[in-house]
Amino acid sequence: MSAKKANLSGELKKYFGFSTFKGQQEQIIDNLLNGKDIFVLMPTGGGKSLCYQLPALISEGTAIVVSPLIALMKNQVDAVNGLSSDDGVAHVLNSSLNKTQTKQVFDDIKSGKTKLLYVAPESLIKDDYLDFLKDVKISFFAIDEAHCISEWGHDFRPEYRNLKQIIDRIANVPVIALTATATPKVQDDIQKTLGMTNALVFKESFNRPNLYYEVCPKINIDKEIVKFINQHKGKSGIVYCLSRRKVEEFAQLLQVNGINALPYHAGLDQKVRVANQDKFLMEEVDVIVATIAFGMGIDKPDVRFVIHYDFPKSLESYYQETGRAGRDGGEGHCLAFYDPKDIEKLEKFLAQKPVSEREIGLQLLNEVVGYAETSMSRRQYILYYFGESFDPVKGDGANMCDNSSNPPKVKDATADLKKSLEL
Ligand code: ADP
Ligand code: MG
Repeated sequence: MSAKKANLSGELKKYFGFSTFKGQQEQIIDNLLNGKDIFVLMPTGGGKSLCYQLPALISEGTAIVVSPLIALMKNQVDAVNGLSSDDGVAHVLNSSLNKTQTKQVFDDIKSGKTKLLYVAPESLIKDDYLDFLKDVKISFFAIDEAHCISEWGHDFRPEYRNLKQIIDRIANVPVIALTATATPKVQDDIQKTLGMTNALVFKESFNRPNLYYEVCPKINIDKEIVKFINQHKGKSGIVYCLSRRKVEEFAQLLQVNGINALPYHAGLDQKVRVANQDKFLMEEVDVIVATIAFGMGIDKPDVRFVIHYDFPKSLESYYQETGRAGRDGGEGHCLAFYDPKDIEKLEKFLAQKPVSEREIGLQLLNEVVGYAETSMSRRQYILYYFGESFDPVKGDGANMCDNSSNPPKVKDATADLKKSLEL
């Protein structure tokens, strides 16, 4: 082991209290510190933040961390500031700060106190920020949730498009981009848009062997879900619905059936929304019925089931949403109800959108229909979508889906897959 690596373990222990690196963290950090551009594709919970937090803490100057959500930034800043005995090594720069606060942040950067500066891309574009940042020492850029750059991702943010230009104006330093979205299209888009086609790529497997995948026809759905939840009494679970109205209706239906459930969607009063989420996290309530507004940044380890009342709009979002089950490695049942009529409705909805958005939406829908209707291993299907091969007989988690544990009488499943993914 090189001296530098031994040293990194020491820093890991010192700042984070962990004895070992997770996955490829050490190689990633080592390469970043040696000036390389890095691209990290790692599932949620894989430990991406540490890949830029640790090098930022031990580098000279300030690392600029681009992150899409103010709430996520705040959590991270608080966490990082809890690590070090020096107060305030991480700061946020965004529109919520007043003049005095902004000046304080600028002063801390100038004095070398700030090791991590979290910014939203729309703040970074402001001229007075740019002018200031180009005159101070920047250690590197970290682009978290980098899939926001791509229209093929599940969370496209137009502000992410200009990042390359902004970075170039500020400093010529290494860039590390990180995401939990690994479809080849998104990966390609990110690398091209950020001008990092020569970056070192670190990709970890997206297989979640403890998750069980199942698709059911949407018949007697209310009854079926009540039955399912009653078979998992006292366990935590999420039911995703497409519309806010459905969320409210179905949460009520569960309550009437004696299930301890609450609704969550962006239309609820902020106080109610936060209270409902907290009750779920604190286990005062078993089931949360939600739109996809629920989940980003939620880290509850023992979610035992994720049910999709309505089919997801893309396989990517399905993977992210089901990924909230079984974080602790224990049971995680992922059940989706499928009705081709629902897909037709989504297609009609897409018909009102601009052409480019519509085409992308339709392609993504094609892929989820393929997943719903396939007779092959669902795990293999999902992993194929992420550019990963999986042995449906011997792979880790091989029999953990309806098609594998109870195979339908089939034709050539691989031909099926190739057709629906247009490979
Ligand atoms: P991601 O951004 O990839 O979803 P996070 O950075 O939020 O993941 O990390 C997920 C969890 O893993 C966090 O609770 C973090 O403290 C933990 N973690 C990260 N690295 C290590 C490590 N080397 N050893 C133990 N736990 C780690
Ligand atoms: Mg993260």
